[in-house]
Amino acid sequence: MSPAGLRPVSARGASAATRQLAVAAGLPCQSDPDLFFAEQPEDVQRARALCRQCPLRSACLAGALQRGEPCGVWGGELFLRGVVIPGKRARGRPRKADVAA
Ligand code: SF4
Repeated sequence: MSPAGLRPVSARGASAATRQLAVAAGLPCQSDPDLFFAEQPEDVQRARALCRQCPLRSACLAGALQRGEPCGVWGGELFLRGVVIPGKRARGRPRKADVAA
C-alpha cells in the first residue's frame, strides 16, 4: 500500500480557495495517488509531467520542502528522505561504482 492517504490536498500549502478549485478540477495526484509514489522510473516521470500542468505546483513544492517529505513526487520533484533527488534507478540495476570496482 502506498502512503497515498498522506496526500490530502489540505497539506499542499495552498489557500483554501485554491485547494477547492484544484479539487473541483481533479488533480492527478488525487485521482491516481499511487502514481505519485511509484517505484518504476518511467512512472515517476509520468507523475512529474502531470505536476507541470498543476496550478498548485509552486505551493505544493514549497510545502513539501518545508515538511521534508520522506518520499514521493510533490510539485513536480521527486523526494527522498526530505530532499529533492534527480530520479530513481530501476530495481536490480548496479551502481556504476559497483561495476567499476
Ligand atoms: S503539483 Fe503535483 S503533487 Fe502537487 S498538487 Fe499538483 S499534481 Fe499534486
